[in-house]
Amino acid sequence: MPTPVSEALHRYLQSEEQIGGYETQAKYADALDQVYHSAARLLNCSAEEIAYVENATRAWALAFYSFRFNPGDKILTTLAEYGSNVIAYLQQAQRFGVEVIFVPNDDSGQIDTEALSNLIDDHVKLISITHIPTAGGLVNPAPEVGKIAKAAGIPFLLDSCQSVGHIPVDVEAIGCDALCITGRKYLRGPRGTGLLYIRNELLHQLEPPVLDQHAAQLISSTEYTIRSDAKRYENWEQYCAGKYALAIAIDYALSWGLKSIQNRISTLAASLRHQLSQIDSIQVMDEGIEKCGIVTFVSEKMAPPEIMKALADHKINVSISQGSGNLVSFNARGIAGVVRASVHYFNTEEEIVYFAEVLNKMMT
Ligand SMILES: *Cc1c(COP(=O)(O)O)cnc(C)c1O
Repeated sequence: MPTPVSEALHRYLQSEEQIGGYETQAKYADALDQVYHSAARLLNCSAEEIAYVENATRAWALAFYSFRFNPGDKILTTLAEYGSNVIAYLQQAQRFGVEVIFVPNDDSGQIDTEALSNLIDDHVKLISITHIPTAGGLVNPAPEVGKIAKAAGIPFLLDSCQSVGHIPVDVEAIGCDALCITGRKYLRGPRGTGLLYIRNELLHQLEPPVLDQHAAQLISSTEYTIRSDAKRYENWEQYCAGKYALAIAIDYALSWGLKSIQNRISTLAASLRHQLSQIDSIQVMDEGIEKCGIVTFVSEKMAPPEIMKALADHKINVSISQGSGNLVSFNARGIAGVVRASVHYFNTEEEIVYFAEVLNKMMT
């Protein structure tokens, strides 16, 4: 987290400690409301289309589980779909007889939009893809998918967990009907925070899978009414400090500008890919045409967990992807795991040179 964000978190928690939880919430009412307006500016939508939730997984699931599927309905998705989302598709497939179709990739490794077009028929109830996959290095062509979805009148759910704060994400330009955000990744916000965007038209066609007395209101012993805005997807009880700090994280990203953030990340990631490609026994695994700040690689000499551990000894933080998270994609590609080095705009060229040097020594 950048300093203004972590300071906000501390300030809020300190106030809760000093004057109390409800009292702090009242004192910070306008600042807590800011997250809806900041997110609306970030995504080019209205504040009424934003819900504040615990994380991106939950945001996505709240939208997904709002759809009512019938036997024979189809969901079109990508090979690089996030593991939790695939689990949700399969659960609904088992419950309702839905068919889950993984649209093939093109030769570059991004979703093949021509294949997607050819798979559209009357049974397709949802197009649901991941924008920037967790471990693929690519940006899927979301606006092209959005055009296809719109032309066919099919709702389009976008997992933009890795893309928001990383590249410009404009819901009008993309044409998605719902998307999810996490605070903790490229937005540099607090952990345990997330946002759901849900398009106004869709908001009124769907019902949240769970309701509480913030999302709805009991008006008699037999009746309730659901709120009209996206807050119908929220909980009454919220992580308020996180909400306050998340708004500040979004404003912070907006103050740099998402296009500048994307350019800076792209330059650093290209340099990292280039330097990794110079090291014997390292293979950069990134797919796609448009690349992102997640750089993935493997080595013939060391397994991903070993590389992660050895780099940590040099104060270099990377993560690994293996198992459930990317199973469909990794099975299709015939790989078991990768190391992920995610660069952000605050990384430096010097750090990338150091990283490549350390890794090179490890491999020789
Ligand atoms: C990390 C990730 C998620 C989960 O985000 P949380 O905020 O941790 O729930 C969802 N989708 C993708 C593509 C991710 O990389």
